[in-house]
Amino acid sequence: MLNSKQTKEMLLKVAELYIEKEDELSKLDAVIGDGDHGITMARGAKAAKEKLNSMDQGSCRDYFKAYGRTLVSTLGGAMGPLFGSIFLELSKACKEVETVGLKELAVGFENAQVKVMELGGAKVGDKTMVDSMDPVAKSLTKSVDENKDMKEGLRIAVAAADEGVKSTIPIVAKRGRSRYLQEKAIGHQDAGATSFYYLVKTISEYTEENV
Ligand code: ADP
Ligand code: MG
Repeated sequence: MLNSKQTKEMLLKVAELYIEKEDELSKLDAVIGDGDHGITMARGAKAAKEKLNSMDQGSCRDYFKAYGRTLVSTLGGAMGPLFGSIFLELSKACKEVETVGLKELAVGFENAQVKVMELGGAKVGDKTMVDSMDPVAKSLTKSVDENKDMKEGLRIAVAAADEGVKSTIPIVAKRGRSRYLQEKAIGHQDAGATSFYYLVKTISEYTEENV
């Protein structure tokens, strides 16, 4: 379980990671999109980091909400509402609780996937972030049902996210800019799916080290 202080620290790590991965994520997007995904994620992360650092005594819910709202308000285009909704749904999943556990992550990520699919119209197999969100939501729900502990459940979820990212490599895109490339997108992994993988990986790493 992560308490509110740990949730804030974990989200600061998430922000640091997106700042660090700016070039890598932009390069992925450059092959099959317009090359700005890393810039967008890093810009959102810098704003979120500033917001989180200005907050004190918040609840888990408040910190997730702050990250999500910052993405929605600072990022134009599709990414603000799409990626922002992940953090906003995690926030909602923490409404009644003081700590974040596997259950809250499972519920939050599952609802986030529904939200992203509603907002962007993508389905599994369209070569978008939904392709790594789907296996993660399924794996976390299964781990909760099986009463797995948080660290183990997260390790399995990271492996599921990695598989999800790999599943975007051999397919053509049905959503986003890469759809214009048709077969030329085959052989390249999706940038948004990779960003979601990094989110799950960072939550897992933080939990391994601090819980
Ligand atoms: P943009 O496409 O506006 O340049 P980014 O480059 O920041 O935005 O993000 C690209 C990523 O967004 C893609 O790799 C894909 O994962 C995700 N994406 C694009 N369109 C959609 C959609 N309709 N639904 C879900 N994810 C999408
Ligand atoms: Mg782009």
